[in-house]
Amino acid sequence: MRIAVLAVQGAFAEHENMLSLLGADCFEIRKKKDLEQDFDGLILPGGESTVMGKLLQELDLFHPLHEKIKQGLPVLGTCAGLILLAENLSNDENVYFGTLPVTVRRNAYGRQLSSFYTEGEVTGIGTVPMAFIRAPFVERTGEGTEIVARVDGNIVGVKYQNQIGISFHPEVTACTKIHEYFLGICRSFKENI
Ligand code: GLN
Repeated sequence: MRIAVLAVQGAFAEHENMLSLLGADCFEIRKKKDLEQDFDGLILPGGESTVMGKLLQELDLFHPLHEKIKQGLPVLGTCAGLILLAENLSNDENVYFGTLPVTVRRNAYGRQLSSFYTEGEVTGIGTVPMAFIRAPFVERTGEGTEIVARVDGNIVGVKYQNQIGISFHPEVTACTKIHEYFLGICRSFKENI
């Protein structure tokens, strides 16, 4: 199994470390040529969604990745990655992939409480550490989107078909549960192709 990590900006190296810890083969997507390889899952890391969105277009990565996601490629979007997947942003006119039926608020915790750490329950996974860094949260979910995590009533984790979007950063903690769960989805996808 081979997992692609979008590596144009942001916290991609931490995701790669997690995948290596779990024995998964991974590689970085930085340019169009990188997409010539086969892969069974994609991670969109945290970072700055506006910068990543712009680079995806400039590097000609947007359309091929968009097609793969629409065709069912498993994707894990963390923080800015969730923003890239969202169908709507409530406080920003940009839409990137738009494949995940949710409305997301960027920097939803404001400046005062922009970064914090907690623990919370994720459906199907259990309790995990949650590191929030200038995090978004989900304000509305559309048809077929399952809410898998809430913190203080706010939606911080969703699943829609093979797409998982979370507001927090599992890759900066020592807990590998989210990545293990994601690899399970990638495995079923690969087996059912
Ligand atoms: N605030 C960032 C954005 O809007 C996301 C922050 C993050 O990924 N840690 O893109």
